[in-house]
Amino acid sequence: MVRRNEIREGEIAVTPPQATDAGLVFIGRIHTPWTDRMLTPRQGRHDGPICRIEIFEPWVAALKGLDQYPDVEVIYWLHQSRRDLVLQSPASDKNLHGTFSLRSPVRPNPLGTSVAKLIGIDGAFVMVRGLDCLDGTPLVDLKPDRCHFTPIAPPQPGDFETGT
Ligand code: SAM
Repeated sequence: MVRRNEIREGEIAVTPPQATDAGLVFIGRIHTPWTDRMLTPRQGRHDGPICRIEIFEPWVAALKGLDQYPDVEVIYWLHQSRRDLVLQSPASDKNLHGTFSLRSPVRPNPLGTSVAKLIGIDGAFVMVRGLDCLDGTPLVDLKPDRCHFTPIAPPQPGDFETGT
């Protein structure tokens, strides 16, 4: 799945529509040991190296309370990815797959997510294990892992009907 920016046999690239401005702001930067995509793990491991997530002002105050959770969902922008492939041929498997059936970094909006182990918070820095991104990757969001939350209301009739 790791690639520089080449197109492999059978892959299909499209011309993406013009980007809309969703008003996205990067709230920090992720410091990791990896400077080469080819050497970055494909998925993070909870026994992997400690990575430092730097939070920019004015968002540092928003870390209050995060330290009570053992696992944190990290959402980041895979900024070196190409964004135009609809069919991809991962290096590990020569078959063609639709982009949305893969966790490849190559996607129209190259968001990466990892559930990381929270090691500690020191001022504007959040230390975690379990990331798989390049040093300097922009941070989009942090959330406590969803497993630590239960639905507010019990299931209601109709909750499980298919949407139209
Ligand atoms: N864990 C995330 C997910 O599942 O959404 C990302 C998985 S993706 C397969 C991880 C790969 O993305 C790494 O092995 C590396 O090749 C690539 N990658 C990491 N950081 C990147 C960046 N900032 N820009 C582009 N590609 C990156």
